[in-house]
Amino acid sequence: MKRAEDLDVTGQTVLVRADLNVPLDGDGGLRGGAPPGQHNISDDGRIRASLPTIRDLIRREAAVIVCAHLGRPKGDDYAARAAGGPSLRPVADRLAELLGQPVTLAADVAGESASVIASTMAPGEVALLENVRFEPAETSKDDGVRGELAGRLAALADLYVGDGFGAMHRKHASVYDTPPLLPHAAGQLVLAEVAVLRQLTNSPARPYVVVLGGAKVADKLAVIGNLVGKADRLLIAGGMAYTFLAAQGHKIGGSLLDTDRIGEVKAAMDDAAKAGVEVVLPVDHVVADRFDADAQPEIVPGPDIPDGRMGLDIGPATRELFAAKLADAKTVFWNGPPGVFEFPAFAAGTLAVSEAISHVTGLTVVGGGDSAAAVRQLKLPADAFTHISTGGGASLEYLEGRDLPGLTALEELS
Ligand code: AMP
Repeated sequence: MKRAEDLDVTGQTVLVRADLNVPLDGDGGLRGGAPPGQHNISDDGRIRASLPTIRDLIRREAAVIVCAHLGRPKGDDYAARAAGGPSLRPVADRLAELLGQPVTLAADVAGESASVIASTMAPGEVALLENVRFEPAETSKDDGVRGELAGRLAALADLYVGDGFGAMHRKHASVYDTPPLLPHAAGQLVLAEVAVLRQLTNSPARPYVVVLGGAKVADKLAVIGNLVGKADRLLIAGGMAYTFLAAQGHKIGGSLLDTDRIGEVKAAMDDAAKAGVEVVLPVDHVVADRFDADAQPEIVPGPDIPDGRMGLDIGPATRELFAAKLADAKTVFWNGPPGVFEFPAFAAGTLAVSEAISHVTGLTVVGGGDSAAAVRQLKLPADAFTHISTGGGASLEYLEGRDLPGLTALEELS
């Protein structure tokens, strides 16, 4: 993959596909834009992660046009989506603050406003296109429809840089269809993320321990399938663990259960056993009578959960067990919180697991999404881990062994 740093960008206009999909608090973002100067971004990690590439392009006197999406705008056409938001206005303001220079926000994605801005930008200036998902074509399944938008995006610039790692697993117009239309290269964030994921995939130092949590079993089954034969231990917790416990014949009360996946879960456990991969499940739980921040936490000392109770976190014995299974690890990949960390009464398991991983001397990778949010919410030092990925879905799909469309598009030589 060509590196953006190797492109000759001086005096050129560069379209940078970044991932600026940050969480927003309050109505401003949802209704289509906070008042100027009022930021309602609750975690600007992805904007910060995009800065090195943008700064490098500015330093080398390129005019930089950033393209990004935010949330999932609803509506059948551009007008409905733009009216409903969210606008990238708060992101433009925050990006300007972090860069220490103005960022012009186009009034559209690849229309009149974007064209005028693109044709009048001076070297070193930065502009941001409006939320690319206002264009229904961005996510269309129709190659021709996506291609038309890609053509309009490409017409804005001389060069393309792909740096939106969190969107790389999407076959979207700005990610997949635009790079072939311009000389292109990968940005620093994408290169850093891929380098870490390659380390996990190609001969990881052993023991290699994978911790999976979160709510959705379905999302994680494919990665489990691919990790069997690669990882030495698989620690499974969070809401997804109850389907595993149910598959083993345990009682799980009213805990999260994906009945349709029990067969696949059994097969995954059989495959792991045959491959000599140790699968470790919770041996005790913190439960409550309802899914609520104010629910009274109770400890259930064994693997079975009585009727009328649901498991919301791993119990103290499981915390110790997981810490012991992580103690000698040389490589760790963690995706998904082991409990409902958003509720303080059920955050102890997530804290214990993240602390245990932070003590590992070796490569430790937090696989984005909710686990990255948990790390930040629990106020653990960012340098407690080797790498916190900006892309949960993208890193999981990479570890599943799937081709990421955005990477495929960048790998093809221009
Ligand atoms: P996912 O997107 O699949 O990684 O799921 C992340 C979500 O899983 C977080 O919002 C957690 O609160 C939630 N979660 C973790 N443990 C549990 C549990 N025991 N029951 C229900 N939800 C859980």
